[in-house]
Amino acid sequence: MKNFDIAIIGGGILGTTISYWISNLYDSSVCVIEKESDVAKHTSGRNTGVVHTPFYLDPEKKKTFAKSAHISHDLWKKLAVNTNSPWMEVGTIEVAKDESQHKTLEKYKKWGIKNGVSDDSLLILNSNELKQKEKYLESYSGLFCKTDVSTDYSRLTQEIKNISIQNSTEFIFQKTVKSFEHKNDSIKINFTDNSSIECKYLINCSGGNSLDIAKQFDLFESYSDLHFRGEYWIADNKYANIVKTNIYSVARHPEFPFLDPHWIKRANGTTEIGPNAVPVPTPETYDGFVTDIQSTISKLGDILTGGAKKLFLNPEFLSLITHEFRSSISKDAMVERVMNFIPSLEPNYFAKKGTAGIRTPVISPDGNFIPDVIEREGHNSFHIVNYNSPGATGAPAYSALIVKKLQNKGILKNSKPQKNSLWNFNSIIERI
Ligand SMILES: Cc1cc2nc3c(=O)[nH]c(=O)nc-3n(C[C@H](O)[C@H](O)[C@H](O)COP(=O)(O)OP(=O)(O)OC[C@H]3O[C@@H](n4cnc5c(N)ncnc54)[C@H](O)[C@@H]3O)c2cc1C
Repeated sequence: MKNFDIAIIGGGILGTTISYWISNLYDSSVCVIEKESDVAKHTSGRNTGVVHTPFYLDPEKKKTFAKSAHISHDLWKKLAVNTNSPWMEVGTIEVAKDESQHKTLEKYKKWGIKNGVSDDSLLILNSNELKQKEKYLESYSGLFCKTDVSTDYSRLTQEIKNISIQNSTEFIFQKTVKSFEHKNDSIKINFTDNSSIECKYLINCSGGNSLDIAKQFDLFESYSDLHFRGEYWIADNKYANIVKTNIYSVARHPEFPFLDPHWIKRANGTTEIGPNAVPVPTPETYDGFVTDIQSTISKLGDILTGGAKKLFLNPEFLSLITHEFRSSISKDAMVERVMNFIPSLEPNYFAKKGTAGIRTPVISPDGNFIPDVIEREGHNSFHIVNYNSPGATGAPAYSALIVKKLQNKGILKNSKPQKNSLWNFNSIIERI
């Protein structure tokens, strides 16, 4: 049986960047366990692809996400330039439809500055100024953020994987973690094919499965999670450039982790609308509404017994979910939501569905969505759950922060000096 100092579960953007840092700073043996045949096959390769400027993140409630996103922008840019990966400085307009939403934009500008964004990157424009920029856009006002970028996070994760392998991380693909045997100073990790490995310390970054895995370590007992599929429609080439900037609208329900579908300029030149947020039973139900009866029943069980039950008794949440379902069943309903700010669109401009992705927000025992990422230490292990949007943007800095925390706890010892590294660990830690 193979032995490692550190085993990371999950070859998404988070597990891969954590492996980059550990292998860059330590001589320890590190592996990343991933059930698919490569990295970024799930959320990290199925998102909107935006490198977000954190103007819309509350600096108190979403402090970790906001700081990490701000610091990571230049880190991703350096990687993209070095590796010739997509980096399209497309900009975003956050649109307000009335005076009360305009007030939210003013608040966003203040939040952005608090989160470190420069004043001149965030311009509040009136409807005429916006019309001159984007003539098909209908708005009361908008916040133009010129630093938002479109990229391909799957490609960026691949590039980080390659560097991590050069630093001697071992990627173990096509192994699904099933269970653990806890020993005093190690953990035996059992896979579904009955093979196993052993590690001294485990880091759980398994995305939509993180909470379930953490529960195997007796953590987060009264927490639950829900899975929401975000679907996209691709605009026909003829209409793809009627608006050249990303367009988002002010969230109508900031207490819930959903945004209205946006108009997205992808790094590959296509334009899409999406994502909506349709509840599904598993983190991988990319089509239909039921993957297998057992997981559907198990998810229903969670809802009926856990904190999520309180959410399903909230009429505002139920009405929102009904709305989201409608936009999954009917393309017209989805396009109508975007027509709210680009009225000249028509459903027949969108012939093909894009690649859906699934978010897994965690719900507290009192039935509320948790706004920021949560971390817990377990027996010989560290668990990261609720790593949602803009988690792809913030991964380089957030993963450095995790490594710093493991250093401070004495779990990672005797780091070596960084040589010819892509990103500088100490300067990130000083800023975060
Ligand atoms: C629709 C949508 C749009 C988004 N848009 C953006 C955006 O534009 N910008 C942005 O910054 N963020 C965005 N996000 C958020 C971002 O994509 C996520 O925060 C990020 O990708 C999470 O990365 P991760 O590594 O934690 O999870 P994942 O990418 O899901 O990786 C977890 C990995 O663990 C593996 N795994 C799970 N269980 C096991 C097991 N038992 N054994 C072995 N392997 C296992 C999975 O196969 C998976 O590869 C979006 C998310 C969604 C859903």
